[in-house]
Amino acid sequence: MKDSEQQDEGAKKIRKRVKKPASQPPHSPATPLDQLGWITRPQLSSLRKLGIESVRDLLEHYPRRHEDRRLFDQFPEGESERSICLCGTVGKTVFRRFGRMRSFEAELEEKAGDLLGGRVILRWFNLFHVQKSVLTGCRVIAYGRPRLRGKRLCLEHPEFEIITEEDKESIHLDRIVPIHVAGDGISVRVIRKLIHRTLSETDWDAWIDPLPGQPLSWGAAMRNIHFPSEPEELETARRGLALRELLGMQTLVTLRRQKAQSPRGIPKESPEKLLNRFLESLPFALTGAQSRAIEILRNDMSQRHRMHRLLQGDVGSGKTVVAAAAMLIAIESGHRAVLMAPTQILAEQHFRNFSTWFERLGVSVDLLTGKIKSGKPSQALIGTHALLYKEEALAGIGLVVIDEQHKFGVLQRTKITASESAPDVLAMTATPIPRTLAQTLYGDLDISLLDECPPGRGKLRTAARDASKLPEITAYLRGELEKGRQAFIVYPLIDESEKLSAKAAEKEIATWSHLLAPHSCSLLHGRLSAEEKATVMESFVEGSTQVLITTSVIEVGVDIPNASFLLVENAERFGLAQLHQLRGRIGRGEHTSTCVLLEGSGSPEALARLQILEKSNDGFFIAEEDLRLRGSGDILGTEQSGLPPLRIANLSRDADLLVTAGREALRILGSDPTLAQPHHASLLKLRLAYDECLTSLGS
Ligand code: ADP
Ligand code: MG
Repeated sequence: MKDSEQQDEGAKKIRKRVKKPASQPPHSPATPLDQLGWITRPQLSSLRKLGIESVRDLLEHYPRRHEDRRLFDQFPEGESERSICLCGTVGKTVFRRFGRMRSFEAELEEKAGDLLGGRVILRWFNLFHVQKSVLTGCRVIAYGRPRLRGKRLCLEHPEFEIITEEDKESIHLDRIVPIHVAGDGISVRVIRKLIHRTLSETDWDAWIDPLPGQPLSWGAAMRNIHFPSEPEELETARRGLALRELLGMQTLVTLRRQKAQSPRGIPKESPEKLLNRFLESLPFALTGAQSRAIEILRNDMSQRHRMHRLLQGDVGSGKTVVAAAAMLIAIESGHRAVLMAPTQILAEQHFRNFSTWFERLGVSVDLLTGKIKSGKPSQALIGTHALLYKEEALAGIGLVVIDEQHKFGVLQRTKITASESAPDVLAMTATPIPRTLAQTLYGDLDISLLDECPPGRGKLRTAARDASKLPEITAYLRGELEKGRQAFIVYPLIDESEKLSAKAAEKEIATWSHLLAPHSCSLLHGRLSAEEKATVMESFVEGSTQVLITTSVIEVGVDIPNASFLLVENAERFGLAQLHQLRGRIGRGEHTSTCVLLEGSGSPEALARLQILEKSNDGFFIAEEDLRLRGSGDILGTEQSGLPPLRIANLSRDADLLVTAGREALRILGSDPTLAQPHHASLLKLRLAYDECLTSLGS
């Protein structure tokens, strides 16, 4: 993202050599950038690395922020929390070396006539290209947070741009300037120039505006998002573009829903003897919410069209029993039923439960661990998503239950719904997402809620603390273990490269075993083999292991009622919704349970974020907060949603636009349901995404 004049110079030389049949302006959105004729080959290749190939891609490379270069900030007198934008002249430059680290420092001076004004140090570590461009005497614009280093005020690793004489007349100065994400071999300035020229040469009439009636036309919104004349124009432009983007997304979802509503289906009528016997055999009565859910499923499954239902219920609301009931309905009407879990650990836990529940009813249960046993297929089959790729295992299946559906990709889900045998689908999730968002993400599913937890649960307390409280926490944990309780200690998942910044669960086992002796600790993480995991889990279930040192592999589903303590180390590295899931591992038995979230970065903001979990136990509220604080990325991972990433819309901020977009999508598709000739340029990409989705299903 750092600027480099060097690149500009090099580009000028090469530009002379590029000869291409140039497309005459004005260009249309689909025009490939190499046809413009004035973008150099190295620039094209750098742009390609950023995923930018057409005029449209380039214009949709939205700025990440703007700088108002009509008036710069004052040179600072002290530290500040806010980043500032300074314009000055480079004085002395120094090159320093500390061991393996090397730093380059430049003094930035404010020159007002002959008077020397403020001064700050610009400092970079191990960035060798900077010293080639930041030279004594240069005019520089720098953006960063002023910090005191010793007695000197520094901007460390500031973003910067060198300004030249001609800039006075140009797009780089004396105006509100966009700062785009730059890339390898292409600077912020070059991208700005390319976008500016492309904007002026684009034929907006060739861009059929998907929403022609809007106050701000698409073209105007596009111009204003990059080069606004006043800051106020930005938000209007952003919303105009966001609406068009969401329209595209809603169109894709609506298409998907239309595809999924296939009438083929196998009505399942069952005498319900099995179901009733099952419910009677349970040591508890169903909650009202569970009974209602089972009733809805029974009705869905008796219909001629297939069931596609999403059951949303907070952690511990008892979804498994509901799934078992649905499976028994399918089995009783002569079909087989499958339950898919996202992890092996969870599949095995389900297998243990279902074996106890079903075998006394005379229903056979099998766990699919990869190899298929020959012999008579069982009536109920449990496994991980590997099941999807076992055609033989799926023969004669009438119902597929997908547990923790948010952990599966949409393609995996669609693979089932598109299969020939047309099974009913029940997807279950404990990631409660706001309703509008759920309808978008899972627009092809009907949604019901399990909005009540079983009674008789012990209380669950949550405490967010900084790492200095670890000794007290350890003492408390010992007390719990002495009472015979069990505990989880969770570390953020460790990637090799992250070893330095996070405490690895591996290393911690020795420390904890020592601290908590004679209570036994075991280690469970994703890299253990399936058998190793099973052994560790079994000894924890039996109680011969009291403390499980683990990673987020236990995030979903694991149900150990005797576990009453959960410590999450470096909790700031998890999303709130994920932490809510994690703490759902405890508080499942009758005892009061304690969840401690340890903040390891020392940041007061991070601690404040974790405190949201102290105050609320409402999964929906927490998911909303997460969405607001961290954006939709976590919930709306592309992989999970199967939707193209959003470039400008924000699902939390723009929830109202999402609704409008949904309505418009229906209207547009209603007037042209086949979309054989995509009339709307904006839908083109989405159509590609959609086709891709279908092709990958076919293969
Ligand atoms: P989740 O919705 O998170 O998947 P589970 O299905 O694992 O929750 O249920 C959590 C625990 O609650 C299990 O131990 C289960 O046996 C128990 N449970 C489920 N339904 C009831 C009920 N109606 N009354 C009491 N306990 C229940
Ligand atoms: Mg569950």
